[in-house]
Amino acid sequence: MQDSYKQQGQRLQMCRNLRAKGITDESVLSVMEKVPRHWFMDSALVEHAYDDQALPILCDQTISQPSTVAFQTQLLGVKPGMKVLEIGTGSGYQTSILCELGAKVFTIERQKGLFDKTKSLLWSLRYTAKCFLGDGYKGLTEVDYAPFDRVIITCGAPYIPQPLMDQLKPDGIMVIPVGNEQQEMLRVTKRQGEEPLIEHFGNCRFVPMLGNVQYKYQ
Ligand code: SAH
Repeated sequence: MQDSYKQQGQRLQMCRNLRAKGITDESVLSVMEKVPRHWFMDSALVEHAYDDQALPILCDQTISQPSTVAFQTQLLGVKPGMKVLEIGTGSGYQTSILCELGAKVFTIERQKGLFDKTKSLLWSLRYTAKCFLGDGYKGLTEVDYAPFDRVIITCGAPYIPQPLMDQLKPDGIMVIPVGNEQQEMLRVTKRQGEEPLIEHFGNCRFVPMLGNVQYKYQ
């Protein structure tokens, strides 16, 4: 896979723009400068890979826009070695960013076409994220992967799914866009013996988190 000087330059510029948009976490900025976003999308769209926009991928889904990936990742506060559950693998771009930050990543996708394509892409890029085909509303109950330090949801959820809260460690953090047509970005901190702390970070728009799929892990 290619990564030209021009594309590396575009990534540098993308990161300058992310700074201007308020991203301050240096570890997030440096991994976003490193990972070629154009590897995670259709070759017909690569010239737009470093524009700050969501772009179509398989199965009528989208790769999140760079500023959204940066913002969610910054809110998540990932440290090396943390166990992170991602709902909505999609293109795998967000997954790769989490891996580059040193997290042990578990990611769930409900669309078989995307699951297959992205699982093999991540593998070919030597990312060791564990990919699951299944229903993100349920998280990972069947095997002993939970609890997680962090949970990130990359589709618009109508509410905060309780199984995902249950699978979060005490003091763990979930970043989730909640709403129907439009969502609000929430950071939810689980606290022992207390209600979770919910912080609000403005409006956003994601493809919907869909339910009612048969759960199957592999
Ligand atoms: N992180 C991805 C975002 C992809 S868009 C990226 O940057 O490419 C959101 C993804 O969530 C879509 O691929 C969609 O199929 C998936 N999704 C929607 N509902 C889901 C559910 N209930 N469980 C798992 N994945 C779901």
